Amino acid sequence: MKAANDRRPEAPASRRPRRPDRRRALRALGALTTLALVVVWTAVASGASDGRADPATGAQAQQTSAEVDPMPEPVDAQRASSQERSACAYADDAAPFGTTDQWPYTVLDTRFRLASDYAPDDLVELAVALADVAPGAAPAGMKLRAVVLADLRALLSAAAAAGLELAIQSAYRSFAYQESTFAYWVKEESYDQALRSSARAGHSEHQLGTAMDLRSLTGPEAWDLDDWATTPEGAWAAENAWRYGFVMSYPPGEEGVTCYMYEPWHYRYVGRAVAADVHASGLTLREYLLNRWTSDAR
Ligand SMILES: [Zn+2]
Repeated sequence: MKAANDRRPEAPASRRPRRPDRRRALRALGALTTLALVVVWTAVASGASDGRADPATGAQAQQTSAEVDPMPEPVDAQRASSQERSACAYADDAAPFGTTDQWPYTVLDTRFRLASDYAPDDLVELAVALADVAPGAAPAGMKLRAVVLADLRALLSAAAAAGLELAIQSAYRSFAYQESTFAYWVKEESYDQALRSSARAGHSEHQLGTAMDLRSLTGPEAWDLDDWATTPEGAWAAENAWRYGFVMSYPPGEEGVTCYMYEPWHYRYVGRAVAADVHASGLTLREYLLNRWTSDAR
């Protein structure tokens, strides 16, 4: 657990203007287009469930990220904003695409988080659901969302066909679980040190119910190895998981853009189409999703 979600020490502190500085920051940025961007951004961050009554019709307009007003073409402002967005800041802003039905696109990092009551209602017991294709791959009590199951079974079956036995080390983790885990590390070490050793509650992809930590069925836990991706199982997963819809969220050498240290065991399911798209893009999942969010809001 401690090894998971470490963050590189030199990552920059929050660059997002705090509330009292917002007006000054906007003035510095200048362009009206930037203002529009921030308004959209704030609307998204304020929560997708905030309905807003249309005075003409009285109808409730859902304020979701996919339905915000089109943005103009602020090339320079857009670029500046992208840089700001790509920085690894510490905050508790509502995750873009942060509802359970938007699971392939939800942006989670050190800044964006899920609500404390975000809990998928289709979690399934993996020990039962995988018993026929990968017996022993998941200890009792481990759960993932039903949307993951078909492709997870395909992934484990393909690995088995290649003579490899993958197992699941960790799967769904609730907000409360992550909260107690983080509190444990604060008590053991310090708040600053805990930030580097554990994700804060709401910021872990495990709360999505679509992320899991893999390991080899036989052999040590993946995070006790120097690099699990150099084992036959880890190498196979790194090469093939995307074909089944799973993306390694924190690949090597990308700490500055993923906001977390390399985690060769941590995979998030985004579906085969998105995973293939991410693979083809050469981007990390976080960059890909941030770009997708930006272009959807445009
Ligand atoms: Zn993980």
